[in-house]
Amino acid sequence: GNKNINAKLVLLGDVGAGKSSLVLRFVKGQFIEFQESTIGAAFFSQTLAVNDATVKFEIWDTAGQERYHSLAPMYYRGAAAGIIVYDITNQASFERAKKWVQELQAQGNPNMVMALAGNKADLLDMRKVAAEEAQAYAQENGLYFMETSAKTAANVNDIFHEIAKRLPRV
Ligand code: GDP
Ligand code: MG
Repeated sequence: GNKNINAKLVLLGDVGAGKSSLVLRFVKGQFIEFQESTIGAAFFSQTLAVNDATVKFEIWDTAGQERYHSLAPMYYRGAAAGIIVYDITNQASFERAKKWVQELQAQGNPNMVMALAGNKADLLDMRKVAAEEAQAYAQENGLYFMETSAKTAANVNDIFHEIAKRLPRV
């Protein structure tokens, strides 16, 4: 029959990569050019239907983890899913994303469904991180990879949908 799944999902990544914008796009279908920076963390929930289940995502959009790194585990502990976000126009944000992946692999839920989002895919002229490089990294580390744009909505629903499909059916 149809299953109801509640899944805690955490967004991690460098400041400015577009975590809040991805959530806003997914939850409200909106984009704000000058998104106010998040203080602490923000909580959202959104329900998504996949073929055999209805998944209610409980989304934690984190911020300020550079300064208050010790708070991060509060948000990823017990999370069923994680989206690690970088900005395709910013190489440092990709390096930062890899650090988050390492931390989740070491400290997170071992069954966490992880996705890597190369965001701002609309800014092709400013690209610094090759899609092939990120795809190869994701494959080596068992992450699902997509390039997204919170601005144009490209692949935003898709990445959440893909995570929903991969969550364990208990
Ligand atoms: P966060 O710090 O990771 O939460 O990043 P924000 O969501 O606050 O986004 C930082 C800035 O990047 C804001 O000015 C957003 O409008 C912008 N932004 C976010 N996503 C995109 C995107 O997909 N394309 C473009 N062009 N800008 C984006
Ligand atoms: Mg934010």
